[in-house]
Amino acid sequence: MHLDSRTIMVMIAVLALMLSGLLALAGLHARNVRGIGLWALASLFISMSMSLAILPITPLTAGWWLVLASVLISSSAVLQYLGIRAFMEKEPDWRFPLLVVSIVIAQTVWFSVIDPNIRFRVIANSLAFVAINAACARMLLVPAAQPLRTAYWLTGASFAIISLMLAVRVLVMALSIGQHYTLYSALPVNDMTFFIIIVAELCLSFGFVLMLNYRLAGELQHLAERDALTGAFNRRSLEGEAERMLARAARTMDPLTVMMIDVDHFKAINDTYGHAVGDEVLKRLASIAQKTIRGGDYFARYGGEEFCILLPSVTEDQAEGLAERLRSRYAEMILEHDGAKIRSTISIGIADSSHAGSDFSVLFKAADKALYRAKEEGRNRVAAYSGMLEAAVPA
Ligand code: GH3
Ligand code: MG
Ligand code: MG
Repeated sequence: MHLDSRTIMVMIAVLALMLSGLLALAGLHARNVRGIGLWALASLFISMSMSLAILPITPLTAGWWLVLASVLISSSAVLQYLGIRAFMEKEPDWRFPLLVVSIVIAQTVWFSVIDPNIRFRVIANSLAFVAINAACARMLLVPAAQPLRTAYWLTGASFAIISLMLAVRVLVMALSIGQHYTLYSALPVNDMTFFIIIVAELCLSFGFVLMLNYRLAGELQHLAERDALTGAFNRRSLEGEAERMLARAARTMDPLTVMMIDVDHFKAINDTYGHAVGDEVLKRLASIAQKTIRGGDYFARYGGEEFCILLPSVTEDQAEGLAERLRSRYAEMILEHDGAKIRSTISIGIADSSHAGSDFSVLFKAADKALYRAKEEGRNRVAAYSGMLEAAVPA
């Protein structure tokens, strides 16, 4: 089947226009995500450049027609590049995009108006597009958290394909010396690379929509499972995770330790220095705890000034060391407020599944009992549930 390039271009013009509208609408209510507007504009430019195919071309206008098309196409590639940088919250980089656009414009003016040479023009411009598309692919084909990675890689792969196809085109052009060549020539590789590039170009727009969708989904999930003040997991997430960890621990016969943390005399901090200082104290505690725990541990705000850490495959004995480190690090922290040096302490209660059992609420109650004991014994200390059991059993 022979595909008529001009017909395809008109169809692409309509599709790109629709995708531009879709991106603009998708970005409308995602004001905290940057870059979407640039992608919408890029798609609009692609649509405009393809629309040029329906204009009547005379030998007199053909050169300038190509200049206009190349300005639009190179600007759209650059807008995509800048959009990705903005989306990924990288510093804007104007030098590379400006270089690409000016090189493309200069080459096109030279090789289509001043000294027409279609082969040199296609080779030179394709090389510039190989560079910018490869730069986009490189930004996206990076390790990222799922599900964003899927969207990054789909979009990145589309850029890589475009870059590769353009490189093929350069090779074909460089090797086909002496053959007659026009933009709409029926050279199979011309139609084929053009078609693949256009399909990949449309895939990009879907990729961008997917990137936006996954970013928003991730933000919503973050909001739903985290505590806004400290960034720690919230109580609902903690309960779900505890159930999962307990089920896993029961399967593997591994212990699970629950650590309950409570700020000592927190009410006094609030009353003396104000609620804002109280909030700052909680944030500091969360930050110290996050830095003290290991990768598989789970830190959450249980409520008020109480926090909880789940420690899989850790016994009470092992957890005591961690609790002691956390307690002393927190006690060393000094918060300065209006010239006053504020110190604060925490009490910690720990219980593990081998002493308290694998029932979620029983295990938590055991850790809470240990915490109560730590408070009773004078605060700023760690108490273990098994220690209380031993104390209760007469020798
Ligand atoms: P104890 O040593 O026995 O734990 O004494 P405490 O004062 O820490 O205990 P209490 O439970 O009486 O006080 C907890 C206080 O925590 C009461 C409440 O106003 C405050 N609080 C709860 N959530 C927040 C919060 O998000 N920010 C601030 N600043 N205070 C909070
Ligand atoms: Mg307290
Ligand atoms: Mg409390």
